[in-house]
Amino acid sequence: MYTANETRYDSMRYRYAGRSGLRLPELSLGLWHNFGAEADDEVCRSILTTAFDNGVTHFDLANNYGPPAGSAEQRFGSILKRDFAPYRDELIISSKAGYYMWPGPYGEWGSRKYLISSCDQSLKRMGLEYVDIFYHHRPDPNTPLEETMGALAHLVHQGKALYVGISNYRAEDAVKAIKLLEEMGTPCILNQVRYSMLDRWVEENGLLDAMDNQAGTICFSPLAQGLLTSRYLDGNIPEGSRASENRFLKADSITKERVALLNELNEVAKRRGQSLSELAVSWLLKDKRVTSVLIGASSKAQLLQNLRALDKPAAFSPEELSELNAILQQ
Ligand code: NDP
Repeated sequence: MYTANETRYDSMRYRYAGRSGLRLPELSLGLWHNFGAEADDEVCRSILTTAFDNGVTHFDLANNYGPPAGSAEQRFGSILKRDFAPYRDELIISSKAGYYMWPGPYGEWGSRKYLISSCDQSLKRMGLEYVDIFYHHRPDPNTPLEETMGALAHLVHQGKALYVGISNYRAEDAVKAIKLLEEMGTPCILNQVRYSMLDRWVEENGLLDAMDNQAGTICFSPLAQGLLTSRYLDGNIPEGSRASENRFLKADSITKERVALLNELNEVAKRRGQSLSELAVSWLLKDKRVTSVLIGASSKAQLLQNLRALDKPAAFSPEELSELNAILQQ
């Protein structure tokens, strides 16, 4: 029987999600990988309990996380029931719908039909009465934005979601979606975006600026799926690593040039007294528009290492920033 660490709130810092009253930990944990049907239940449990023991109150899921789709929510639900039942009100649990879930015309994208039935399915899998945040996972070019945002607002009115957010939207559509949700009285509190030192598209296309004073930004794949860690610094692909699966992180993306760049970043990290993953997390948190950095971890040790990023203030000297920019622009 798990009992949470009494000191769990002593060192974590929390930031407001946009203009809402909801605060998220600077580091949140996502269950996209490592929590599917084939994962080891004890490893999953140890990652989740270690997170919570260190003040990580936010766990991010989606209908399709697994594999197979749905299994991460199922596993999370069973661990929640066994270990976290007394702590439900201390947790921020999110889910999403947008990607393919079931056959036929109602099993993906952005219709009201899909979003509402998918949220119901997620609640059942996790054994929850409500999720704290429900996202539309990707924009749908063929459904009016009014319908998709209306479905999110409806979930809030039904009490199935406390807050709503969007993910993978481009700046122009994100602004429109946020305005619609505001008019419906169910503000969009978070925009979930891919953002890391190796992938700065949200800076380049104006999305980060557009979110300022609108919605909070929560960054996914902040470690570039493991590239911004010590995992690949020697140029090899360790067994069991995400690159060894060659699905979402392609083995051939780990080129000699990429490894050289990662090692240059690692030198900067060392000078700051950090590991590469700590540097990557701190680099995102230096921007106050970032509400939370949403990492993944395949072990408790990885999670603990990434949490060390929070030991230091996320501050960089102008010289460090220009050195990092020069490395990243190669
Ligand atoms: P990261 O960039 O944090 O990558 C996580 C992976 O990096 C781990 O599974 C592990 O891979 C490796 N890793 C992490 N820490 C360390 C360490 N200290 N040392 C060595 N290796 C390490 O994030 P994810 O890509 O997993 O995304 C995080 C979350 O973001 C997801 O779980 C999900 O909740 C969300 N997300 C949302 C999306 C969206 O469309 N909205 C899309 C993608 C993610 P391994 O050990 O397996 O090599």
